[in-house]
Amino acid sequence: MMAVSLTVPQGMLIDGQWGPTRSGATFEDLDPATGETLAVVASAQAEDIDRAVQAAKRAFRQAPWARINPSERGRVLFKIGQLIRDHADELARVEAQDVGKLLVDAKNEILLCASLFEYYAGAADKILGEALQSGPDKWAYVLREPLGVVGAIVPWNYPLPLASLKVAPALAMGNAVVLKPAEEAPLTCLMLGQLALEAGVPAGLFNVIPGFGSVAGEALIHHRDVAMIAFTGSTEVGRKIMHAAADRIAHVELELGGKSPQIIFPDANLDAALQGVAVGLFKNAGQDCCAGSRVFVHQAIFTEVVDRLSAIARAQQVGNPLDPGTTMGPLISQRQCQRVHHYVETAVAQRAKVLEGGKPLFDGGEHHGNFYAPTVITEVTPEMTIFQEEVFGPVGILMPFHDEAEAIALANDTPYGLAAALWTQDLSTAHRVAHQIEAGMVWINEYYAHEMVLPFGGYKQSGVGKDYSMHALEAYSQLKEVAVRLL
Ligand code: NAP
Ligand code: MG
Repeated sequence: MMAVSLTVPQGMLIDGQWGPTRSGATFEDLDPATGETLAVVASAQAEDIDRAVQAAKRAFRQAPWARINPSERGRVLFKIGQLIRDHADELARVEAQDVGKLLVDAKNEILLCASLFEYYAGAADKILGEALQSGPDKWAYVLREPLGVVGAIVPWNYPLPLASLKVAPALAMGNAVVLKPAEEAPLTCLMLGQLALEAGVPAGLFNVIPGFGSVAGEALIHHRDVAMIAFTGSTEVGRKIMHAAADRIAHVELELGGKSPQIIFPDANLDAALQGVAVGLFKNAGQDCCAGSRVFVHQAIFTEVVDRLSAIARAQQVGNPLDPGTTMGPLISQRQCQRVHHYVETAVAQRAKVLEGGKPLFDGGEHHGNFYAPTVITEVTPEMTIFQEEVFGPVGILMPFHDEAEAIALANDTPYGLAAALWTQDLSTAHRVAHQIEAGMVWINEYYAHEMVLPFGGYKQSGVGKDYSMHALEAYSQLKEVAVRLL
């Protein structure tokens, strides 16, 4: 059956109803490729957040969602997955325009969201407790219970996937959710609210409240009835969230920034390595927490890699993501473009060398988009800002190394620890190095080798807790022992 066409709902979703903010506040959501207004969106204030959290709390306590047969919950989540699949084209188009990403990437990401809901639909009735017999008249069992109201806050680079990663396991575990999308790309999260209602999620269990981080986000993280904050975003805001949670001992799950290394050993299959390294650098215009922005290359192949990677950077077709020839879209905003350029200028001031790119594109011309040239930088040392800080743009640094120990030391010389990629055909090198890398994810001979069934999350300042896989369910639950003495 052909689905009814899906449009972006107006307002916020609170307690199963769409409506404006109390104050009538709105903001403009822009198209990053053209600078034009895509939509006028409700801008939730503290009072709206409070209404959403109260609705979630009521729904959690009163609606039987957490207590119903878990396969019923699974059926509703599966329906959300199906609806996402039915509306994948509309969702992908909105996501591509809102974020400025390639349509083909957006479509794949939307299909991943459908799979995520289906995965956690299947998980809902496979969450088991434990039982223990500790004597002839003493036994106990352990229940895994939901936490209550989960506040989910996500960034703009992968809006619907990052929201689905939080919402699907949180609901599968029986929690209620208040979702705050990023103000720069809120549209598909609003559409998810619509689909969740249509799938039969009870009123109040899933609320979507767009707005600014400094207002809506702050109100959510400080709300005393929010039992857990599930966050993806910058390390800086993650730190604020941990502080806010400390006041009331709330749970947190944090997926934060990265400065991920890619190491090319001299025996690597170079064609595959260069293709993968380029994906790690330029996918989503480098606006990716897992961007492999520090490339370490064995000295024997350094010159060749530098030449070939510069050629790949030059060959990128930067433009409107909806144009079929485009291989790299704009950055999300003018501000982000300036931020990226500032990092490149700082690198130059600190004596690094820009080999390719290193400037905003179409500056001052007829294009109003926030485009930045794919950039390759060499002559970098570990003290430089460009080595240590996350740029969040299409900027890669290339450095030579002499031996395995030096490569590992360089890779680990960062406060972050999200992902890493190794390029080698030697099995022993691959595993020996993988075990010594301080990162939550190590990929060998493929960038983004991550799969939905594997735990995704960082070491060090890249976060705490895991998204994806059955492990995500642990974050959205707590254990209760019930111990019995038989009389
Ligand atoms: P951000 O500034 O941390 O924003 C992320 C979200 O937090 C947005 O919804 C934002 O709202 C909200 N927020 C901002 N300030 C807040 C506050 N004081 N209290 C509560 N919420 C607040 O991150 P970004 O710059 O948009 O996104 C890029 C960052 O996300 C990068 O550092 C990247 O590495 C990280 N990231 C990590 C992962 C991962 O899985 N590890 C995945 C993707 C991205 P507004 O947008 O309205 O300000
Ligand atoms: Mg936008």
